[in-house]
Amino acid sequence: MALMPFDDRDGWIWLNGEMTPWREAQTHVLSHALHYASAVFEGERVYGGEIFKLTEHTERLIESGRILDFEVPYSVAEIDEACRAVVERNGIDDGYVRPIAWRGSEMMGVSAQKTKINVAIAAWEWPAYFSPEARMRGLKMRLSDWRRPAPNTAPTKSKAAGLYMICTLSKHKAEAEGYHDALMLDWRGYVAEATGANIFFLMADGKLHTPTPDCFLDGITRRTVIDLAKRRGYEVVERHIAPEEMADAREAFLTGTAVEVTPIASIGDYSFEPGTACRTLMDDYDREVRRASKEAALISGSAA
Ligand code: PMP
Repeated sequence: MALMPFDDRDGWIWLNGEMTPWREAQTHVLSHALHYASAVFEGERVYGGEIFKLTEHTERLIESGRILDFEVPYSVAEIDEACRAVVERNGIDDGYVRPIAWRGSEMMGVSAQKTKINVAIAAWEWPAYFSPEARMRGLKMRLSDWRRPAPNTAPTKSKAAGLYMICTLSKHKAEAEGYHDALMLDWRGYVAEATGANIFFLMADGKLHTPTPDCFLDGITRRTVIDLAKRRGYEVVERHIAPEEMADAREAFLTGTAVEVTPIASIGDYSFEPGTACRTLMDDYDREVRRASKEAALISGSAA
């Protein structure tokens, strides 16, 4: 299938307050963000025309900017509204929303105090790729050679573009060797996360264990799945997990806006059974996003 490049499509992108024709939403080659990675972004999912956990994503975007020492020049309410407008203008029913904030072209050096903060929001159609049955087979993963950095080495709480450099390298190596994705350990050698998703294990004690997010993203999906699991009566343990402990895990799965809940079949030599916990939480997550979508539609409908 031919690739449809992201800069050559029909539609509308919200750029610094203006709904802009897709192909005209440009930035200059001399932009601070391009050279020095001074950009933060979000990834949001649209279900039935409504953005799941929109305000949580918007708040994280603004906080990510603060961590990179800049103030996104719009309020949470303004960004929420702009995200909804982009979804509506592009007629997205099931899709993805990508807000990004970045330092512009006013200065070109390490110091960027006076750069303008730009904001763009794009959205595209992105129906569920796999049926739950296909996803149930589970991902084949390898251990990455790269580690999540320590919090005093990088701004690890920010969803900052620069933190993805080692994710792309890890994912490329995994794909080149026939794997779906890579598991990254942290700077201490504990299990951290995949290249764009958090990880959970159903251990032999029947409890769900997930790494403490003290040097990587505490995913919005992660928090949703923790709530759903507790409602099902699972005890959820957040702690440091050594990679050897994966030998005791019966099930393992990823959580994230893009992957939703996806079982893992193996990580290197460790293998897991995509079982009841995975299936239950996949279904519960699916129900939760649809429920939230209907509720949001009712609220916006009654407000109109
Ligand atoms: N970790 C990384 C590195 C990610 O890119 C993502 C996706 N944003 C996640 C975890 C999961 O976060 P969320 O559930 O908020 O999408």
